[in-house]
Amino acid sequence: MNREIETVDMLIVGGGINGAGIACDAAGRGLSVALYEQQDFAGATSSASSKLIHGGLRYLEQYQFRLVAEALAEREVLLKKAPHLIMPMRFVLPHQPSLRPAYLIKLGLYLYDRLSSRSQLPASKAIDFHHSGILQSQFETGFEYSDCFVDDARLVILNIIQAKQLGAKVKNYCQVIDAKEVEQYWLVTLYDQVNHQTFQKRARLLVNAAGPWVSQFIDQKLNVESEQKVRLVKGSHIILPKLYEQPHAYILQNDDQRIVFVIPYLDRFSLVGTTDQTYQEATHQVEISKQESLYLLDVVNRYFIKQSGIQDIIHSFSGLRPLCEDKKSSAQKVTRDYKLVLQHANNSAPLISIFGGKITTYRKLAESACKLAMPFFPQMKKSWTAKTPLPGGDFNGTPEQLTSQLLQSFNWLDKKIARRYIAQYGTLAWQLCGNKKGLGEFFGAGLYQLEIDYLVKNEWVIYPQDLLWRRTKLALFLGEKELQKITKYFKNSPICKGAMSAKGEIKD
Ligand SMILES: Cc1cc2nc3c(=O)[nH]c(=O)nc-3n(C[C@H](O)[C@H](O)[C@H](O)COP(=O)(O)OP(=O)(O)OC[C@H]3O[C@@H](n4cnc5c(N)ncnc54)[C@H](O)[C@@H]3O)c2cc1C
Repeated sequence: MNREIETVDMLIVGGGINGAGIACDAAGRGLSVALYEQQDFAGATSSASSKLIHGGLRYLEQYQFRLVAEALAEREVLLKKAPHLIMPMRFVLPHQPSLRPAYLIKLGLYLYDRLSSRSQLPASKAIDFHHSGILQSQFETGFEYSDCFVDDARLVILNIIQAKQLGAKVKNYCQVIDAKEVEQYWLVTLYDQVNHQTFQKRARLLVNAAGPWVSQFIDQKLNVESEQKVRLVKGSHIILPKLYEQPHAYILQNDDQRIVFVIPYLDRFSLVGTTDQTYQEATHQVEISKQESLYLLDVVNRYFIKQSGIQDIIHSFSGLRPLCEDKKSSAQKVTRDYKLVLQHANNSAPLISIFGGKITTYRKLAESACKLAMPFFPQMKKSWTAKTPLPGGDFNGTPEQLTSQLLQSFNWLDKKIARRYIAQYGTLAWQLCGNKKGLGEFFGAGLYQLEIDYLVKNEWVIYPQDLLWRRTKLALFLGEKELQKITKYFKNSPICKGAMSAKGEIKD
């Protein structure tokens, strides 16, 4: 055995929410952990979700009570772990008697309120829409219930930051290109895409959290047989100028029995989604089709007074749900629950593969993965993530109170920027503002040099799009000239250039 190759207990393939959650949990239990992501963290499905921390009201129709109960309970746990990032939200469901009778919806909401204990979120109720000025006049009554909204990509990065704080080695733009079993270890070959270098690590246990690539990784990189396969279901969203002013979301029933969410997004927009389309092969180039855009617009236009067309779409994004293949259900009906498969035949090096899952249930999934890993690491500590805040989430009170405190600490901050800093960084905003006397060069839409440099140094930002689409969503607010200025800064600033080579180093 080559002693120069570093050995870790657990090597994780994939830096989406599931890989990040497992890295964080396992590192906190005392394992040596390394995580590699071939793109940017949250570069695939975990930044393309509907961004809901939700029980999944519609899964009740499919009798998925285990999943719903677990997800409902997680809303409360995650709200406490990241109170700056996760926001309670009311969801309004206009009643359409021809699609689902009122008694069925009442029964569903009765269960939704009670399948798990609730301390922070209000219960559901029936409502009246008369003269709402938002919905078309035929929608007179409906229901309202609670769920939560999250910045999905930032939830991933918070888990990555915490994993690193707990000793894990984490690296983006680094692909696992091969893993072979050698003397009861996994010998893993990696390709650093920034420095164009290949290197190796040895791992006692391999976790395949490759999301849409999970089956492809097993078949092509490991040469192992797996009975469980992934079912890829594409889902797309469109972003429209906001359809109404109020802070609640809508859940719209469509004639095909599907539902579409309309969610207030970043003060100015409405986020509309999603679709369900079977997809054949995992790829990073997933795009919305014209047919999907028209489908979403059609649903919205049937409910809202304000009409929208293709020309109103400000942005769209699509992702692939990596679901558990059951070989029978339709794309919309295949379960959103997760399955972890442990392969460990004849004392071979163990492999855990992750199929399915939700952003909402990532923490429970990570606990299950650690439970499967436990027999191989008897020294492993107990589960700990339920009651420990994520980085930036360690405060009492409301995000508004925290914003006031930030403004008191840094009186040169603008109120709007302070609000965004708290929503994104929580108490880490103090680290961001640090001892600096000001914000530095201005790039537009509230983005200053201070934040770029902080994200490059502390959150693995390598390319402008990492910052503009995942660490923040500022791309939605910036014009072409401003984007060019940011790209130029990345090319010329010593901090950005330095970070590229430092992050690209093989010794991470
Ligand atoms: C349209 C849509 C809406 C959704 N809405 C919600 C919602 O509102 N709420 C909710 O709870 N859930 C939602 N989900 C589900 C949720 O987004 C996914 O279950 C979750 O993001 C999957 O995370 P993951 O880590 O398994 O996969 P991913 O986020 O795809 O991460 C896997 C990562 O592995 C990397 N990778 C693959 N192969 C390699 C390799 N060889 N080397 C290194 N890295 C590799 C990939 O680049 C990728 O980044 C939604 C999903 C979709 C598609």
